[in-house]
Amino acid sequence: MSVRKYVKIEGPTIDSIPLIYKHKIPIQKTLLFWEGLKEGKIYATRCKKCGQVYFPPQADCPNDMTSDMEWIELPKNGVLEAFTKVYARPQGFDDIEPYMIGIATLTNGVRVMGWVEPPDEKCVKVGDEVELITKNIKGRYLIILKVNKQCA
Ligand SMILES: [Zn+2]
Repeated sequence: MSVRKYVKIEGPTIDSIPLIYKHKIPIQKTLLFWEGLKEGKIYATRCKKCGQVYFPPQADCPNDMTSDMEWIELPKNGVLEAFTKVYARPQGFDDIEPYMIGIATLTNGVRVMGWVEPPDEKCVKVGDEVELITKNIKGRYLIILKVNKQCA
């Protein structure tokens, strides 16, 4: 067991420049999800025992403590339930323009969060139909909720 020692800071301070903390995320059990994004496919997992669908995909079902899961591809259409514009971007996205994110309920009831891509930000409304696509943004495939409608 290690003992951490903290140094008490006395006197005035200023904030440091924010630090980037980067680590490896194991994806062995969710590899198909990550591979699917590259092909425009969005996968969830479904428990073979109770039928519960998990998105983001989970390798285990807490309902009945099983790892007997199967992959299902999610539908590509849904309805926008909520959205907002992100001005205060997190580290890693702070060098790109502010963007919109939203949550859509798909035709099978699963809720998915993604970046909202409207024809015009001013005409986006809750209830708009969205098409799910994926895009490579800064080397990472993200889910895009594409609003396909004509703006007045
Ligand atoms: Zn289950």
